Amino acid sequence: MWQKGWTEGAAQSGVRQRFREGTTPFGEAGRARRAVWFCWFRSGVHQACRWVLTSVLLLGVAVDVVFADPADASAVAPPDAVDLALAGLAEDRAAALTKLEGLANAAGPVQGKAIAKWLDALTDGPERERVPELAKPLLDSPALSSGQRVEVFASYLEVLAQIKPSPVSEDAIIGLTERLVASSTTDEQVSYWANLAAWQLRTQHFANAERTLNAAIKLDAPRSSSQQRAGLLRNLGVALAQQGKLEQALQAMLQADALMRELGLPVDAALVANLAGLYVYLEDWPHAREYAQRAYDLAPDGSAGQLTALNMLGNAAFGLAEVQTARDHFERGLALAIQLGRPAISERNNLALTLLNLGQPREALTRFQEVIRLADASEDGVVSAVARKNVAECWIALGDRAKADQWMHEALQFYAKQDVPPKRKELLQLMVENLEAMGRHAEALQRLREYHALDQEMINSEAKARIASLENDYTLKSKDVEIALQQAELQAQQADLERLRGQEQNEALQRKILLVALLGLAGIVFALWHSLRLKARANRELMAKNCEIEAQRIRLQELNVTIQKQSEEDALTGLHNRRYLQSLLDRATQAESDPAPASALVIIADLDHFKRINDTWGHDAGDQVLRHVAETFRSVARAGDSLVRWGGEEFVWWCPGASVSEGPALCARLQAALASAPIVLQGEAQQITASIGFAPVPVWPGISADSALGLKLADHAAYLAKRAGRNCWFGYAARRTPDNPGSLGQTSVDVLEQTGWVECIAAPG
Ligand code: GH3
Ligand code: MG
Ligand code: MG
Repeated sequence: MWQKGWTEGAAQSGVRQRFREGTTPFGEAGRARRAVWFCWFRSGVHQACRWVLTSVLLLGVAVDVVFADPADASAVAPPDAVDLALAGLAEDRAAALTKLEGLANAAGPVQGKAIAKWLDALTDGPERERVPELAKPLLDSPALSSGQRVEVFASYLEVLAQIKPSPVSEDAIIGLTERLVASSTTDEQVSYWANLAAWQLRTQHFANAERTLNAAIKLDAPRSSSQQRAGLLRNLGVALAQQGKLEQALQAMLQADALMRELGLPVDAALVANLAGLYVYLEDWPHAREYAQRAYDLAPDGSAGQLTALNMLGNAAFGLAEVQTARDHFERGLALAIQLGRPAISERNNLALTLLNLGQPREALTRFQEVIRLADASEDGVVSAVARKNVAECWIALGDRAKADQWMHEALQFYAKQDVPPKRKELLQLMVENLEAMGRHAEALQRLREYHALDQEMINSEAKARIASLENDYTLKSKDVEIALQQAELQAQQADLERLRGQEQNEALQRKILLVALLGLAGIVFALWHSLRLKARANRELMAKNCEIEAQRIRLQELNVTIQKQSEEDALTGLHNRRYLQSLLDRATQAESDPAPASALVIIADLDHFKRINDTWGHDAGDQVLRHVAETFRSVARAGDSLVRWGGEEFVWWCPGASVSEGPALCARLQAALASAPIVLQGEAQQITASIGFAPVPVWPGISADSALGLKLADHAAYLAKRAGRNCWFGYAARRTPDNPGSLGQTSVDVLEQTGWVECIAAPG
């Protein structure tokens, strides 16, 4: 509730109100400390003490601001069951709460509102302890609108902030906020963060609060200025002030103030008071007076707000050397504090100091003694010590230095207990002056020694701090030197690295060159190997070609032989043909030119009446007879003899080495073979006969002559056999060797016979 008002203008809560009026533990103590701070400031208290008190005072400011009242806004929604229940809270709280609880637990159009308002109501009363337990699960209730969920969250954090120590860790609360923020609009997100920051301020997590608020302000930045933004800036000012960032705090709060004015919002009295306080701390007296006056005017008559403002007005007037005005403010402040039922220690102290400054030590003394009594009662050692010193100053002003010394002695003891060396030193100085003024030099010397010892102690501690600082500096410098050395080493290493890289690059280059060379060599070797391979292949191909040529040559040779054979062979009978006989005769001719030519016997056989065969049984039968006769010749031929089909049905039997004398027997053997092998034509055996003639080649032994002459004689002899009636043989033999046998080629057989160069041999019978 203490935050949700920024977004929804909810009514000011009781909790918030109590904080504003200073009835919380922070309130009274804060005011007392602020008063003391003023006294110390005015009496030249050491800065170290000032900041201690400043922080205490600022804590009070924080509480004031956090629980400060946002501008009210009137609700415009028409009354419903929830509103009716809320209206009954003042009369019968228990019944109203029961009603709200019932509405919160029953599904319906007002369930979400009932949840939010019920928890809100609980938060403001003694039932608040229930809120954390109830709110945590209800945060996820689907009945809640997004705005109502923010309200529940605010109630939850408000109660959590009141429980010391917090039952939930800051991390857990941040986690919860982040979860809720994840599913919210930007506007709601800002509200969630604002509530979290307020919780952080109240639990004194000021640095975290500053971060949260800055994040919320950043998130809120794109939007136009708003009341919510003013609230965020004001709380940021508190968070900053609590961390001693006074200038920044002032800026944030001034922005908040300007924004609220710009928006035409009612002036935020707490903000004005806080600004006044900041100006006091910053010793900006004109502004301090201006804002303190505004704070006073804004605060209700006779309120704690006016009391605070009066104290600040007094401070400002004192700062501006308007001591009488300051006295008026402090006197009014004291009267108001007493009216409010407060011990009013600070107010009495401020007034007493002012009186002392105005040259009214007796009146001041009375006030300081009251302060001493009250401070001793509240066991506030520092205030007791300060007040005693002030009493001593009053006695000095009244001319009783002995009494002053006694009070200072007491003050010294309090300071010693509180361990505030600067204050002790200041007091000792005053004591020395006082003792010297009384002529108590020995005691003055003693105090002076204490003063120097303390001074020395402080110097020592300062020196120690200085030494520590120097050591720290030295360490830093050593570190710098070390870093510089390391950098130098690093540079050296980098230089080495560069050098090594250079070397490596050179080596890499060399490796590349070597590689190129090796590749070149490999290329050459490869080329060599390739050429050898090509050569080998060429050789192989050549060899294969040679083999092929050789094979072709052989085949050709074989073919030639075949062709030769075929050219010299008779296709029908397989015997040699006339061409072969010619070659035989040519060889025989060469043989005749030989000094000792080989002799042969040539036998010619002409089948008898062969035409009849053809005519009777057909040409095929004639062919059959011709093959049959050829076989018969083969059966009678001797080894080395040649058989030739000389013409149609005429055959030549060439018998190398045979003499004429063998002719008759050979002819007879042929006749016998033909006779013994008749051929069967169409189932009828047919006797084949032949007319045979023979002659020697060469005709005259050892004498070269026309080779055809022997054949001519044999043919003639066969003719004689035909003429003799067939199936018989005749032959010719050399008788007398002619003088010129080479010229006898054209000579007829009859002439040769008549000349007596040859003689005819006839078969017997
Ligand atoms: P001669 O006893 O007087 O020798 O009488 P011939 O019939 O045997 O002789 P001729 O010269 O009158 O007839 C020869 C025949 O042989 C004529 C021809 O048709 C035949 N002849 C020739 N060559 C072939 C052949 O290759 N096959 C066949 N079937 N007949 C052939
Ligand atoms: Mg014939
Ligand atoms: Mg014939």
